[in-house]
Amino acid sequence: MSKKNSMLANALANFDKTVPLLRSEFHDDVFERLRFCKERSELRLAPQLSDGKSHVFMAYVVEHSNTLGAAKGGIRMAPDVTIDDVSALAMEMSWKCALIGVPFGGGKSGIVADPSKLSAFDKETLIRSFTRGALRHIHPLVYVPAPDMGTNEADMGHIKDAISYSQGLATTQGCYITGKPVLLGGIPGRREATGRGVSIATVEAMKMLGMKPKGATAIVQGFGNVGSVAAMALEEKGLKIVGISDVYGALYNEKGLDLKKLFEHVKKTGTIKGFTDGKAIDGRALLECPCDVLVPAATANQITEENAGIIKAKIIAEGANGPTTPEADDILEKRKVFVIPDILCNAGGVYVSYLEYTQETQQEQMTEVEVRARLENRMTEKFALVAKTATERKLHVRQAAMYLAVKNVCTAIVARGALP
Ligand code: NAD
Repeated sequence: MSKKNSMLANALANFDKTVPLLRSEFHDDVFERLRFCKERSELRLAPQLSDGKSHVFMAYVVEHSNTLGAAKGGIRMAPDVTIDDVSALAMEMSWKCALIGVPFGGGKSGIVADPSKLSAFDKETLIRSFTRGALRHIHPLVYVPAPDMGTNEADMGHIKDAISYSQGLATTQGCYITGKPVLLGGIPGRREATGRGVSIATVEAMKMLGMKPKGATAIVQGFGNVGSVAAMALEEKGLKIVGISDVYGALYNEKGLDLKKLFEHVKKTGTIKGFTDGKAIDGRALLECPCDVLVPAATANQITEENAGIIKAKIIAEGANGPTTPEADDILEKRKVFVIPDILCNAGGVYVSYLEYTQETQQEQMTEVEVRARLENRMTEKFALVAKTATERKLHVRQAAMYLAVKNVCTAIVARGALP
């Protein structure tokens, strides 16, 4: 990939586009503070795995900003994750938390490993090793991780256990980690929150554009936590899922894929590949197939200047972080494709993480019905705010979302006052 479209370059380009919108309201030094991450740590983990040997893994913990509160952001486990990717994702978390209205700053971590090549035992050992290495960062008032690509609920359970064990306590005091299993203090509906949030934002966009969900078509890239739930939730809202992909393959069926059967197939085989109810096609080509809504829910830089001109969707709902490059954004804006930006579209996850955080801090219990109702309210409220700002200020939706988010963080910096 060219350096031009590294995740960090894209995140900085989006930030730099936003600064002129706020220049009359804040001094330049405020923007300068936010252009870089506050802290970037590089860890060298050396757990002993099941083969009896010690293996070296690099890991990164990055805090972009803690102005609004403890840094919040998931742990990405991928063979190619870099400290710059983690920095870009941490920066995006600052904007996402500020936009969706939760008192968290932006953070993220990364573990350089391929989860598909680790046994369950080795993955748990690596996660415990990461927890030990990152323990001086992970704290309810410092950095609160969650799942991201390559990590899941079970991993969060192991992190909580590793921390309470190291403290000699039965449990942790306060919320050190979100996205845990419900039995270990997690909140019902957290695992589904990001995908459900994507579906709520999509339907709001459809209403705004005068499109009816019933019978509309959607393509979802990625069939992990976000993609699989988004597909299911969109189907519940009446859309027909005509295309799905994962890292191993892609399927298209203009009549609509049978999701129930697809879930069963994935449960058995671990991939959508080999499912016979749709036509197997190339994963890149899938993004260009006819549909009303395209949900990139896999990884960054999927919609680029090469395919932005040919994508047929009227709405792009960014389930993934950073799936669209700034160059592609310009093309989509000219083509009047409605892009629901990641910091809004996939913010349901961090919103419900905040509910988990408050639940654990207050030793309360919330039901899934409450969680879903609050998620629906928050997503529709913030969608309306971003849409109104875009119309009033004649901004592309991403710019409107960034304007609101960066403004909130800048306002908080000024409110906290000068550092000595
Ligand atoms: P996951 O690991 O559960 O799933 C990722 C999915 O994407 C898998 O199905 C994988 O096979 C697929 N994939 C990877 N590369 C692909 C490619 N090139 N083409 C097609 N499919 C590909 O991860 P997740 O938690 O669902 O996260 C997906 C995206 O959503 C990431 O960008 C993540 O940062 C973002 N996100 C996740 C959350 C969350 O709560 N999990 C919250 C906000 C944003």
